Amino acid sequence: MIDIFGILGLILTVFFILVVLLLLITILLVSYSVKTKKVLFPGFILFVLDFLYYPLKILTEKLGLRKGYIDMISNDMRNFIYYKELSKIPFENRILLLPQCLRKRDCPAILDSMKGFQCTNCGRCGIGDLINFCNEKSINVFIVPGGSFVKKVIKLTRPKAIIGVGCHIELREASLVLEYLKIPGRGINLEKDGCVETKVNYEKIKKAVLIAKD
Ligand code: SF4
Repeated sequence: MIDIFGILGLILTVFFILVVLLLLITILLVSYSVKTKKVLFPGFILFVLDFLYYPLKILTEKLGLRKGYIDMISNDMRNFIYYKELSKIPFENRILLLPQCLRKRDCPAILDSMKGFQCTNCGRCGIGDLINFCNEKSINVFIVPGGSFVKKVIKLTRPKAIIGVGCHIELREASLVLEYLKIPGRGINLEKDGCVETKVNYEKIKKAVLIAKD
């Protein structure tokens, strides 16, 4: 008689060994990338991070690593993978999406249902200056009031590339949507997240929107 439990046990053991092996290789590759600033096999790293996303999230948090550590590495890998594709897209076919939480509490921008928050360049935050910078390169900027607005903007503007700013969770969710839509993108993490007056490195955004073929 076939020993079903024996076979199941064997399958589970082999699966477990494979997962541990994948993890060890990924840890080695990530450590190498962090040390040398050279990324080896980003597609493989991303595959493992996506495949083991929830267990890895729990594990890294239990180990005392920064919250969102896995999302940040995933975002870095995606940025690396899509760099070349993004660099080929003309500026006028790119859009930049900013979260509305970057604004100041007393921001006078008015919400337009089709265009998002309309910055008046009051100077209270860095968004006005960034919009001027992007306008010079014909890159459309949207201050996003919420997730459903992003879908609307993509439908309306049909961008060929999207650069987005957000917290690690938002960036991960957005990157999965972009992958599905086959739109190259680049995610820039907020330096201080939250619901109001978040912070970002504006120079990083300027560099990201200007990525071009050498
Ligand atoms: S610069 Fe624009 S987005 Fe920033 S607070 Fe002023 S109006 Fe609002």
